[in-house]
Amino acid sequence: MSAQNSIPEQARLVIIGAGPGGYAAAFKAAELGLEVTLVDPEANPGGVCLHRGCIPSKALLHVAKLVEEAGEAADIGVTFAAPTIDVDRVRAWKDEVIGKLTGGLGTKVTQENLTYVRGMARFKDAKTLEVTGIDGATGDMAFEQAIVATGSRPMMLPGVESGDRIIDSTGALALADVPDSLLVVGGGYIGLELGSAYAALGSKVSVVEMTQGLLPGCDRDLVSVLKRRLDHKFEAIMLSTKVAGLKEQKKTVKVTLEDKKGQTSELRFDRVLVSIGRRPNTGNLGLENTPVELDDHGFVKVDGQRRTAAPHIFAIGDIAGEPMLAHKAYAEAHVAAEAAAGRPAVYDPRAIPAVVFTDPEIAWCGLTETEARAQKIKVKTAKLPWRGVGRTLTLGREDGITKLIVDPESERILGVAVAGPGAGELIAEGVLAMEMAAVAEDLRKTIHPHPTLSETLYETAEMLFKG
Ligand code: FAD
Repeated sequence: MSAQNSIPEQARLVIIGAGPGGYAAAFKAAELGLEVTLVDPEANPGGVCLHRGCIPSKALLHVAKLVEEAGEAADIGVTFAAPTIDVDRVRAWKDEVIGKLTGGLGTKVTQENLTYVRGMARFKDAKTLEVTGIDGATGDMAFEQAIVATGSRPMMLPGVESGDRIIDSTGALALADVPDSLLVVGGGYIGLELGSAYAALGSKVSVVEMTQGLLPGCDRDLVSVLKRRLDHKFEAIMLSTKVAGLKEQKKTVKVTLEDKKGQTSELRFDRVLVSIGRRPNTGNLGLENTPVELDDHGFVKVDGQRRTAAPHIFAIGDIAGEPMLAHKAYAEAHVAAEAAAGRPAVYDPRAIPAVVFTDPEIAWCGLTETEARAQKIKVKTAKLPWRGVGRTLTLGREDGITKLIVDPESERILGVAVAGPGAGELIAEGVLAMEMAAVAEDLRKTIHPHPTLSETLYETAEMLFKG
């Protein structure tokens, strides 16, 4: 059918939110023959991921990679002039990338069995939505089944409002300009990715993180590979330090920092990017008018098919819990769509990869060493530093590590982690190995192409069988 602004009175399956969860569920359900109505305020589907998340951040990180590699090429005898950055063109290119992807999805929602409604939906009760179109007109929509995929939004520091100088990830990705100095509040993956992009574009970037290390939750040996490089890229990385105050002034932001001893200091930055986490979009959804339940963190409680406490209402993606990642939303979307179509389906992944797209990248799946320690799980670990590996030398990048975590009895692979350029691509092999219940021997016996970084996975498996 088509994209439309009028609000249908009936829906067989309504999907609220057209991010990676919502649009993937819509396409799958339509393919399975269900009549689908997809509701989202944006002109085209895409959600946070395509409009203001995964895709624009990776586009900017690609620009960063070009700038940095050109700068480092002098070490191997190729010298480029210092880059001239045309911010308007960079922004336009990033927007073109977004436009191509979301435009493609916009065309796809005109397929048979699909109706795309631009608007915001709210539950009046467990069988009726009130939809407010972007023109302000409202209408009730009775539905048989619903999939809630309203995603998440950035958290702000208490009492602080975003503005011209205090921005969140959405503001940073808009790339209004390249500030001389930027403070990133929060050393998680979003802050480090965006901080890296701005540093390459020319900002003096500092990071402040409340806990003792960057990327809380990630194994420290992986983080230290990244930190060594970020220490050169960033002006300062202030750990165990809190932001006690932020005040937007005419030309700068006055930041009060408090270290672990309680001592305060004041610094000024042109811009402050607050990236301290994300919170699920459950407010203003009228969920209280339905039996749907939330957990203590504000996520919708779901079962293995992503059904909520009201079995005809499903929830997927960021709103349905950690990890808040697009590929987790896609996987849940397919399960929920199949379950809505009456097919047997369950969400039960062995491993969900996590990738930090910094330089070097960090990627892992399955059990981490940190989790094994905390949960007192006995594991055998092999770690291969990338120094001296053929492919890493030919790339001029020996700053990496590949790690395998296996069960000491069965040698079944429990976790895989990689820090180094290309880690995000390499981890897919680890995910497949885990889904196939591979043992270390399988990885060791698999012939890997030479010379590639993937050989580090096989070589790490090999280490488990030595002495
Ligand atoms: P979303 O993408 O958040 O989409 C929800 C949609 O619902 C939105 O379009 C919203 O407008 C709409 N909506 C909300 N309320 C209503 C309502 N009441 N009625 C109708 N529509 C509504 N993940 C990765 O896997 N890899 C990455 O590299 C990555 N990088 C990221 C970088 C940044 C800067 C950010 C912010 C996020 C990144 N993420 C990444 C996370 C990823 O974007 C999310 O996990 C993903 O978008 C979640 O998909 P979703 O479908 O749950 O919701």
